[in-house]
Amino acid sequence: MTSDSSSGSKDFIRTLIAQDVKAGKHGGRVHTRFPPEPNGHLHIGHAKAICLNFTVAEEQHGRYNLRFDDTNPSKEHVDYVTSIQEDIRWLGFDWEDRLFHASDYFEQLYQFAVKLIRDGNAYVDSLSADEIRANRGTLTESGTDSPHRIRSVTENLDLFARMRAGEFEDGAHVLRAKIDMTSPNINLRDPTLYRIRRVPHYRAGNAWNIYPTYDFAHPLSDSLEGITHSLCTLEFQDHRPLYEWVLNACQVDCHSQQIEFARLNMNYTVMSKRKLLQLVDEGHVSGWDDPRLLTLKGLRRRGYTPESIRTFCEQVGVAKRDGIIEMPALEHAIREDLNRRAFRVMAVLHPLKVIIDNFPEGQVEDMNAVNNPEDAAAGSRTVPFSRELYIEQDDFREDPPKKFFRMTPGQEVRLRYAYIVRCERVVKDEQTGAILEVHCTYDPDTRSGGPQAGRKVKGTLHWVSAAHAVSAEVRLYESLFTKANPAEEKNGVDFRSYLNPDSLHILPNCQVEPSLADAKPGTPYQFERQGYFCVDSDTTADKLVFNRTVALRDSWAKIEKKSQ
Ligand code: ATP
Ligand code: MG
Repeated sequence: MTSDSSSGSKDFIRTLIAQDVKAGKHGGRVHTRFPPEPNGHLHIGHAKAICLNFTVAEEQHGRYNLRFDDTNPSKEHVDYVTSIQEDIRWLGFDWEDRLFHASDYFEQLYQFAVKLIRDGNAYVDSLSADEIRANRGTLTESGTDSPHRIRSVTENLDLFARMRAGEFEDGAHVLRAKIDMTSPNINLRDPTLYRIRRVPHYRAGNAWNIYPTYDFAHPLSDSLEGITHSLCTLEFQDHRPLYEWVLNACQVDCHSQQIEFARLNMNYTVMSKRKLLQLVDEGHVSGWDDPRLLTLKGLRRRGYTPESIRTFCEQVGVAKRDGIIEMPALEHAIREDLNRRAFRVMAVLHPLKVIIDNFPEGQVEDMNAVNNPEDAAAGSRTVPFSRELYIEQDDFREDPPKKFFRMTPGQEVRLRYAYIVRCERVVKDEQTGAILEVHCTYDPDTRSGGPQAGRKVKGTLHWVSAAHAVSAEVRLYESLFTKANPAEEKNGVDFRSYLNPDSLHILPNCQVEPSLADAKPGTPYQFERQGYFCVDSDTTADKLVFNRTVALRDSWAKIEKKSQ
């Protein structure tokens, strides 16, 4: 994990903000915002931006806003607005009454644009998009002035008003800042401030025929809200001079400061909203909440807790340079968290029938099982034990390798919370040779509290009583992509060609202990010896469904090896 927090606990953003507070900038106030565009659902990268924006404000007893950056009507939707709020609340942040929409500022933004025109700082250009692009120049060649750059203020005001009124087709004119076509920074070569888009806006309806660009709307929205520090990702670094130019030219009262930090990138996944939408629309995943996606909805359904995500974002730190975070870092955070909070239970994913021949038929004994050894307050429960049980197929071997301490003919093992048993014989399908059931005997003295309770054997297995077990479907997940960086699209290979065909395994016939019968969706459990699981939202009164959140131990080393 990399972070630029060289001197102790503070990263460069926190250091800078602390200096501003000390110097009394903005009267010592700290006010940040998280500005999502409502054109998709949030992912783990957004969580990093949310945690950063909101916690730096909290640390300085400041405030934070939630602002929907909804200036591009074509892809935005109110459903995303609702869902984004839900996800941020779930993460544990409360913006109180400070929920804003850039679209609420459309009139003010328009007036700022009029001011720029009046001051000779903006003009209406009537070149086509292609012509504007061609005139922009390149990194090594400066651009050329548009013939419309010298239009009079009066003509500009008239055209801009008529653009607003809907008199022109999309693309007929744009409003551009009049800065410098020879600037080495292409963003300053008379950037577009307004475009004609005669489409309705999900909030503003048909009120507008022109919409401001991000570069114009963002600094002004920040300023209107009294934002002191506008934290954004590195791709906006080259836009910072434009951010400054807009605030200066509009002569605003509150001059927010833009500070860039590195995006969170994770391997074996994609995070661009466009790509996520493609995966959802084309059915490669079951929806935005597919547990294989690193969307907040996907992570929640997978069993990630908000605390684990916040801890992860903190541990990743704030860097000035882009890097890639490995999946084990995220999995470590959830394991640590669930280790503290998840009840331990017994669940058999690949059942093998075990019959204890000397255990009385019809007898049921209640075994006492500890709910969470990490949390004394979690108490205990009883688990029924009877003559017929299920154990994991993997826990039995007829011809075991060396050092196989699980069940094998003639060898004793302990059944967790219950007796020591010894395998006596195996019943096989005569035709296929498949093992149908395993017969054992038990030692009645080895139960907890019995005279031989402390007798040690090398292996301990989890089990469920066949008559009492509840059937469940368990979904196991592997990484969605087989390549560490699927978005790289090297040699024109589409990211979808790296989709892992084995990313989802459904085990339809698992057997879980009866205490799970009424488990509620979202509840986390540790299935002993197998990993952390949570109850999936597909669970109904008739069908229990679990997702594996994460295995007990890191298995990524193996996956990396396979994909090389
Ligand atoms: P896309 O990546 O699909 O272009 P976006 O993720 O940038 O879109 P926004 O809604 O504009 O979508 O993001 C809101 C905020 O979240 C922005 O300030 C952006 O800088 C930040 N953000 C987005 N992705 C990440 C990321 N991977 N890591 C950190 N911050 C991010
Ligand atoms: Mg963006």
